[in-house]
Amino acid sequence: MAVTALYALQNGYLGFERSGLFYGERSAERVPIPIACYLVKTTDGTVLFDTGVSPRAVPGLLRNDSMARFEDADLLVHRLDSIGLEPADVDLVVLSHLHFDHAGGAELFPTSELVVQKDEYATALYPPAFFAGFYYRKNFDLPSYRWRYLDGDAELAPGVTVLRTDGHTPGHQSLLLELPETGPVILAGDSCYWQEHIDAERVPGVVWNPAAALQSIRRLKTLARLVRGRIFPSHDPVFWKAVTPAPGFYR
Ligand SMILES: [Zn+2]
Repeated sequence: MAVTALYALQNGYLGFERSGLFYGERSAERVPIPIACYLVKTTDGTVLFDTGVSPRAVPGLLRNDSMARFEDADLLVHRLDSIGLEPADVDLVVLSHLHFDHAGGAELFPTSELVVQKDEYATALYPPAFFAGFYYRKNFDLPSYRWRYLDGDAELAPGVTVLRTDGHTPGHQSLLLELPETGPVILAGDSCYWQEHIDAERVPGVVWNPAAALQSIRRLKTLARLVRGRIFPSHDPVFWKAVTPAPGFYR
């Protein structure tokens, strides 16, 4: 029982203001940011981390965002197909949080188990006005699906551990993977948008609780240091250029 492979799946690009990327930043300059999902193979099952945007949202995003870029190959089903998988092959779908660029593909997985923090789910269903624009209820209001609600850290399988990393949202979670050759990798999700958020401990500009977000960045850095692991940020265009894209993989 062990992790055998980690695939990085590109799910298109969005434009985003620097004021949204970095807490306290006022610049409205927009930059293209990648949307990423990750597929993890283990000897006893297949785990997906995040699901990108819904195909339903793509036309509107392309219309309203001149930096948005979505190719046919970027669709999650096509990325999975490129590594020989269908949605039904995925046992667990771990959602870092329920913002539209992470939970958009959840509906592709009616037979998988969907893993989310219960606080995240509760807030996403009834968000306060200032946060409502990031949650598209259609993405996660799927009552016939198999949801597993977590309250904090959890070991999902040997070598696959959920880490609670609140702050960006009320119930954000990251995923620690123990890979046999690469070593430990932490998929930070939006607790760390860019490498700069890790290195300079910069809080995301879109944030529920900035103090908690800072603690989460520090917690991941501490864990990464203790296990001698790497942190993969969620939306870093420079990091993404250096990542091994599927169908290549980390072992
Ligand atoms: Zn995001």
